Amino acid sequence: MTPRVRIAPSPTGPLHIGTARTALFNYLYARHHGGTFMLRVEDTDQARSTLAYERDILDGLHWLGLSWDEGPEVAGRPAVGPYAPYRQSERTQLYREAADRLLQQDRAYACYCSREQLEADKRAQEAAHQPPHYVGRCASLTPEQRRLNEAQGIASAVRFRVGRELVAFDDLIRGRVEIDTTALGGDLVILRSDGTPLYHFTVAVDDATMAITHVIRGEDHLSNTPKHILLFRALGADVPQFAHLPLILNADRTKMSKRKSQTAVSDYVAQGFVREGFVNYLALLGWASGTEEELFSLDELVERFEIERVHSGGAVFDRERLEWLNGQWIRRLGPDDLAERLAGFLAAELDAREAAGARIRRPAQDEIRTLVPLVQERLPVLGAIGDLVDFLFLGEIAVTPEMLVPKRWDERTTLEALKAARATIADVPPVTFEADELEPPLRALADERGWKAGDLFMAIRVAITGRTATPPLFDTLVALGRDRTLQRLEDGIRLLETEKATVTGG
Ligand code: GLU
Repeated sequence: MTPRVRIAPSPTGPLHIGTARTALFNYLYARHHGGTFMLRVEDTDQARSTLAYERDILDGLHWLGLSWDEGPEVAGRPAVGPYAPYRQSERTQLYREAADRLLQQDRAYACYCSREQLEADKRAQEAAHQPPHYVGRCASLTPEQRRLNEAQGIASAVRFRVGRELVAFDDLIRGRVEIDTTALGGDLVILRSDGTPLYHFTVAVDDATMAITHVIRGEDHLSNTPKHILLFRALGADVPQFAHLPLILNADRTKMSKRKSQTAVSDYVAQGFVREGFVNYLALLGWASGTEEELFSLDELVERFEIERVHSGGAVFDRERLEWLNGQWIRRLGPDDLAERLAGFLAAELDAREAAGARIRRPAQDEIRTLVPLVQERLPVLGAIGDLVDFLFLGEIAVTPEMLVPKRWDERTTLEALKAARATIADVPPVTFEADELEPPLRALADERGWKAGDLFMAIRVAITGRTATPPLFDTLVALGRDRTLQRLEDGIRLLETEKATVTGG
């Protein structure tokens, strides 16, 4: 039997990391076993679902490269698939029919309890320290009593009978799971009195009618599974296999939350995580290859993925590891590809600087391409490009005399060094202004004066970039160009001279 699996996001918020991870594991399972990966939009919560969130979720999944075979849209085209529609809000009729069948078989019944009655039950149960449950007031009404209620026009919900039993299933990750249905809160509302279906019902009806063979989802749904199993059985459907993925945890091992961590995939996209790195990291949130290897492309993951290797313990979200992996994937990108991905991030950074009043110069795409060798090894995220090369595009860089002086040096030495460096660099003619031509004379200068090369290079670096961390110094000088290098050294020298004059003259 080839598997049919699904990702079933609720569009009540932007694409969450947990949903992205669940989507990935379903995708990997389907592709590894030659099965079908389906997307179903679970938008029964009309008050909280929006089309904008749905868009965000679909865009995010496309960004991750998780293409689905069936869904409300497939590869940007409208739904084609044997089980359309794939949006629950468009499947209401199906849920009504299924509820009718359950009513006819007395697996469900009409419940006339008013909101006030149910609230009063709840309060009484709280007072008696009982867990909340339906008291069964309408479970055994006679046909006569029902007719009477209907005649009075009392609206009714549909409740599914939840017997007292032990529901057991073999979870592909957790092994045998047994849950006593008495803990489930009693008979379950499946349709509200206005005819709208409830979540547990829509999931079970859809998984049954869409022939889902494996339900792979987060551990937070584990306690719902017995309800779904009872519904599958009542609907006369085969019960699928279940696999509950470990929770994703904050560093303090609490459940990952918006409050403590970034949870929206779009935020990571905006910071410049690349899909290759992000997918790779998501895969490691709960799955391990069993080898020392850590870097896996999506195709490699498809090949290696075994659901049995998913562990059941919580997966701690580790931002540092994500950045490290992302950096590794940035290094693997081809230069044109990387230049193209960087362009937007650099432009956004320069826009922000311009908006803040800076005078800037805009790079052409081929200039960005020339920067790639300077930055490729140094980017944990694409968004770090601005901090790394902004000095190339700013009319003025912000430098203070304190910044110019390396840790082990004083102002006098720094001034002397910058003057000497300026003269040395000025001796390199424009035609040979290259890293290989600049390095030897500057090293010789440090030797001659008894300076540590690192200190001299730091003073130059800060004077020409305004930063202590940049791409390699000699490449940086070349990227900046001879004229601007000499000009910025001159500016630094003047800054220190003015400072000296104020201090000694004051
Ligand atoms: N719509 C549910 C959610 O977003 C998923 C339900 C399921 O996978 O069964 O959490």
